[in-house]
Amino acid sequence: MKWITTLKENNANYPLDRKFNEFNKEYFDEKLTNYNVKWTAATSAAGGRYYSDGETIELSTYVANIVKKEYLEEVFDYILLHEMAHAYVYEVFGDVKRAHGKEFRSVFLPVVDAAGLAHLNHRGKVTQIIIPLEYYTKDYIDKEKQKQQKKKDKPSIG
Ligand SMILES: [Zn+2]
Repeated sequence: MKWITTLKENNANYPLDRKFNEFNKEYFDEKLTNYNVKWTAATSAAGGRYYSDGETIELSTYVANIVKKEYLEEVFDYILLHEMAHAYVYEVFGDVKRAHGKEFRSVFLPVVDAAGLAHLNHRGKVTQIIIPLEYYTKDYIDKEKQKQQKKKDKPSIG
């Protein structure tokens, strides 16, 4: 599978199954049973995805391409906890109106705090990770700067 290559290239090894089981015990009262947790090569700004059929969580290997390997574990921890919090909300509250509404916050924020990852959060806004700039690889930062520059160079229309 493609993702294994990616992770090896980055010399990273994130034990997804083990982490899921540990977090399930430590933060979610072992309520998350029969979940299918897997990697995907699909890029996503959030780095992870929870399917509201209640059974599947995916983490994006794309993250391993843009984050320095020494920070990868905590970033993946954060993403996994985020998706697991969605699953927990589904188990406890059922379908909720807003995915990142008060139910989600009441679950996710204390967990993030307890896991020592609150610095990846941004003032209680839990829909995305604010990855500190120094976490990104130089390649990624350079590419993003180039993109910004190209936008600036484009003549404005109208
Ligand atoms: Zn979410």
